[in-house]
Order: sequence, then structure tokens, then C-alpha cells
Amino acid sequence: MIQKLNAFKARKSLGQNFLFDKNITRKIVDIFAPAQNENVVEIGPGFGALTEELLPSGCNYTGIEIDQRLIVDLRKKFDKCDNFNMLHHDFRKFSLATVSKKSGSIRLIGNIPYHITSSIIFAAFEQHRLIKDMMLMMQKEVAQRVVAVHGNKDFGILSVISKTYAQPAIVLTVPASVFIPKPNIDSAIVHWDFSEKQIRQPGDPDFFRIFVRTIFNQRRKMLRNTLKKLGDVEAFSANSSADLQRRPEALSVLEIIDLCNDFIPYTAPLK
Ligand code: SAM
Repeated sequence: MIQKLNAFKARKSLGQNFLFDKNITRKIVDIFAPAQNENVVEIGPGFGALTEELLPSGCNYTGIEIDQRLIVDLRKKFDKCDNFNMLHHDFRKFSLATVSKKSGSIRLIGNIPYHITSSIIFAAFEQHRLIKDMMLMMQKEVAQRVVAVHGNKDFGILSVISKTYAQPAIVLTVPASVFIPKPNIDSAIVHWDFSEKQIRQPGDPDFFRIFVRTIFNQRRKMLRNTLKKLGDVEAFSANSSADLQRRPEALSVLEIIDLCNDFIPYTAPLK
């Protein structure tokens, strides 16, 4: 395996840092604990380091890999397994309904490219109704942003979107030495449990994403100033008890959802 990895021309543009340490891949899959007949989707299986630990569980496995060179290799290695299914796709454009249309039926796992971590997470959250849970490896600093609580400097778009639809937790930290090629950063694995969402949900999920992005893009500004970009703040302020002097990082996730829902009628001129 190590020889094969060293000989492979890894593409930086595809974030290709492969796991080769069996102790780590076993540990990751032990934490994930796949079970027979569960729908497991792996994002970017690469050379199959996690795949070969997942398949013996008898889960209903689907790999989504963007690099055709790796797909040829993966099929050669795993096509004999009845529970193995490999698709050539960009996960960010992939519809999980292809795997299962049943709500809360899909488990996502992946050691994903560092430079597109956020867009992969957002693509998954757009399909949150289908997902049971998700476990992804990422740069340690990004993992800290995902789990950050309000009032913390790391609290932002990733934390809010994550905690609206699920409950995230860091389950493992991973040193750079277990990858080929070795990255310059340490990694961490985040697990999201989608059965634990906020008690109230965004009325308009598309607008909610825009709303969160807008208020956190200028996180040092008071809400009164950033909300001007989205609608009629003065009319909203006259009819609401919300304190618009606050900065976005001071609000809890539920307060952000409520504020966004209450603000929707005042965006009408912009829509
Ligand atoms: N899972 C393997 C491992 O742990 O050794 C490979 C991990 S490597 C960090 C990321 C993998 O994701 C690569 O195989 C890469 O080709 C694939 N990939 C990159 N962008 C992707 C995308 N948009 N959709 C699906 N797979 C992608």
C-alpha cells in the first residue's frame, strides 16, 4: 500500500492526502460503527483505506469519488463485495436521494479534501433530511469552528449551520504523520448527530444561509448595520423587540434562527 501511494501522482487540487495507517483507519471506523444494511456513503474513498474497514460490517456501501484514476483501482479491489457500489461524482453536486429517499436513512463518512471542507459540509446540510449522521476528517482549526459556541471567536457560519440541523462533536484528533503525502496541518474528526436539531427551524432554508453568511461576513458590525443589506431594518426594528445593537457572535443558534424567521417579511422588497 505504501509503495502504491508513493508511486501515485497525488493531485493537490483534489486534496489528495491518503491514510495508510491501519490503526487509525480501524479506530475511525470503530467510532463510526457501521451496521448491516445501513446506507453508508463515503465521500472520496481514494485508495479505499476506510472502505476496506467499512465493507465487512455488511453496510450498504456507496463511494462517491471524483478521480477516475482511483475508481478503476477501487472497482478492481472491491467489486467482488455484494454491498459495494462506486459512483464517479463530485459530492458537492451529488443527490443523496440516488442512494435512499427515506428520511434520516443515510450515514456519511469521509476523509475529505481540506480546501473544500466547507462546501462539502454545506452540500451535505442542504440534504439534511436524508442524513442520520455524518463523520468527516478536516483541518483541526476548521473542526474547532464547527463545534464553537456563541460568544467564542470561532463561532460563525459553520457552527450555526451545523448546530441548526444537528449536534456536532470532535471525536478524534489525527496527526499529520498518518497521511501520504504528509500535510502541513493536524486534523480532527467531527461527528454530527442529525437526530438532535434545534427546536425551531428556519422557515426559508435558502434565505437562512444568506442571512447567516451576511451577518457573519462582517462579524464586528452590529446587526442593525449588516441587516440593512437584506431588508427594511427600520420597519423591522419598529415592530420587534430584538436588540439590533448586538453583534452576531453574541447570539445563540436558536436566537439567530428566530431573528431570521422574524426578519423574512421585511425582506419582501429585495425578493
Ligand atoms: N479516503 C481516502 C483516504 O482516507 O485515504 C482519501 C482521502 S483524500 C484526503 C480525499 C479524496 O477525496 C481523494 O480521493 C479525492 O480524489 C477525493 N475528492 C476530492 N474532491 C472530491 C469531490 N468534490 N467529490 C468526491 N470526491 C472528491
